[in-house]
Amino acid sequence: MRYISTRGQAPTLGFEDTMLTGLARDGGLYVPETMPVLSHAQIAALAGLPYEEVAQRVMWPFVSEAFAEDDFAAMISRAYAGFGHDARAPLVQLGPNHFLLELFHGPTLAFKDFAMQLIGQMFEHTLTRRGQKVTIVGATSGDTGSAAIEAFRGLDAVDVFILYPHGRVSEVQRRQMTTPTEANVHTLAVTGHFDDCQARVKDMFNDFAFRDRVGLAGVNSINFARVLAQVVYYFTAATALGAPHREVSFTVPTGNFGDIFAGHIAKRMGLPIKQLVVATNQNDILHRCLSTGEYRVGTVEPSISPSMDIQVSSNFERALHLAYGGDGGAIAQLMEELKGGGFTVSQGALQALQDIYTSGRASETETAAAITGMLRRTGETLCPHTAVGTHVAEAHLGSTPMVTLATAHPAKFPDAVEAATGTRPALPPRMADLFDRDERILLVDNDLAAIEAVIDERRAT
Ligand SMILES: *Cc1c(COP(=O)(O)O)cnc(C)c1O
Repeated sequence: MRYISTRGQAPTLGFEDTMLTGLARDGGLYVPETMPVLSHAQIAALAGLPYEEVAQRVMWPFVSEAFAEDDFAAMISRAYAGFGHDARAPLVQLGPNHFLLELFHGPTLAFKDFAMQLIGQMFEHTLTRRGQKVTIVGATSGDTGSAAIEAFRGLDAVDVFILYPHGRVSEVQRRQMTTPTEANVHTLAVTGHFDDCQARVKDMFNDFAFRDRVGLAGVNSINFARVLAQVVYYFTAATALGAPHREVSFTVPTGNFGDIFAGHIAKRMGLPIKQLVVATNQNDILHRCLSTGEYRVGTVEPSISPSMDIQVSSNFERALHLAYGGDGGAIAQLMEELKGGGFTVSQGALQALQDIYTSGRASETETAAAITGMLRRTGETLCPHTAVGTHVAEAHLGSTPMVTLATAHPAKFPDAVEAATGTRPALPPRMADLFDRDERILLVDNDLAAIEAVIDERRAT
């Protein structure tokens, strides 16, 4: 499998280089040149298999030229061994035909562990084989950073620098990032929003001298390897609910569009997904765009679901690329217009997007009410991101089973959950000492030169 840039100008790459590169050199995102399709029989055979086995079969067509089959199986096995649930991604029923896919049993209690744990294994495998070292830089609105740190801490071939918006992540999220003691882990508190952090990471990738000097690698959700790892749980959930003999719908709490785009890939691979519902909080640029075709950047309004507080949704570029029939020139043009504040999706492309995606938003009040109501009706405590999802999903329930993705454990956002339920959710026992550990916090200005200087000074690779 070869990978091409959404903007059509960067060289095509194999899987390992796509993974190590992150952002393409033309500013685009890598996508597979063709989409592998699993037959009805192959999908039917996935039902009831262990998560790791499904992962191997679903991802294999994307990586088969990069890895030996048993090496890849070993990477998958190590990636998920530390999860706190044997099913890895268990399904829970919320109501008639409404299910919750619990994606928070990994080491940092959010769905990002699914991709990050595997990418850590794949980086180590490839870098060791090539005798190479890299500097990983990532922006986080809270969950990516801790997941990346958990995945890469202590690895020899990697220095990890995580940029998070100072004062805008929850205390649990911050502590998960600032308490690891390994020398290759560096957490930078940036004076700005998540969008600023993400923009500075993109700037670093576009500073080719710096990029080449430090061996920059990215593990944000723009990294195709991350999106790929997230395709797997759409297959485990849908086959558990009767696919491929029956259609299944999904509602996904969405920020950077990585998780839901994985659902789009699953659908292209042949999984019978009826509706893919994008659920946003009050930062609803995606809901507005999917409704009207107008992608206009506003200002970020901090919410109780902070991991979705973004205006520029990076992976949406991949969905646009498919909607524009793979026309890299058209995507490059839209992204140029985005620098001026926004763009209008063409009629044909909007139709193509609406054929795949439906959308909805939840206000702050609706999110809190969804947490309160779900606890009363089912005994389930939701994190605020998941509550955005269930709120939106409830407008789309019907005869097709609906699966809402539970993107984080409620204990990761205890203040919002306590405000809605009156009870403070407890951390799982394996993390109970988080508040007793020492923190290392490095405050830096929202300024490219300042951030690059810190990285140059601290990296060992
Ligand atoms: C990252 C994150 C999201 C948003 O996922 P995207 O792939 O960026 O759309 C939603 N909920 C939680 C808890 C997250 O950590």
